[in-house]
Amino acid sequence: MHKVLYPGTFDPITFGHLNIIEKASKLYDEVIVGVASYTGKQSLFNLEERHSLCEISCAHLPNVRVESFEGLVVEFAKRVGAPAMLRGMRAVSDFEYELSLALTNKKLCPEIETVFLVPSLKYMYLSSSMVRQIADLGGDLKDFVPACVIEALKSKGAS
Ligand code: ADP
Repeated sequence: MHKVLYPGTFDPITFGHLNIIEKASKLYDEVIVGVASYTGKQSLFNLEERHSLCEISCAHLPNVRVESFEGLVVEFAKRVGAPAMLRGMRAVSDFEYELSLALTNKKLCPEIETVFLVPSLKYMYLSSSMVRQIADLGGDLKDFVPACVIEALKSKGAS
């Protein structure tokens, strides 16, 4: 059984994340979307909200499940029995950060691999921070995030 962990902060989940998750669901038997409790920054949505938005957005994918985690991502990968972690690689701008993250995780836990997937072209420049900014400025988000995220942003007073 081929299992993969897709970790992130998902603050909030976007069609870019979903594009990666959908591709992964065709490549792997099981995809675990790992919602990190630690964000390293002030998040817009709390862990419960981020988790629930991921769950609603992935409900149509039977081999995808969502789990929240605390602590090191490599430890979580071991706990769920995933030999590999998935990350999205957008433009060149992601490369430096993702490479240093992958090498650091490799140092922490040599047996866990990092696998990169490239999203479809239309999602190449989509990020959660961009979505939060568009919401703040009252822009239309329907091409960027699922309906549940638009509703959640509205109830936060954004969008
Ligand atoms: P983190 O804060 O850990 O980077 P994110 O939730 O922002 O978490 O992203 C998780 C992963 O998804 C990262 O590898 C990121 O590069 C990737 N990702 C985010 N947006 C997109 C997108 N539009 N297309 C492809 N990958 C993406």
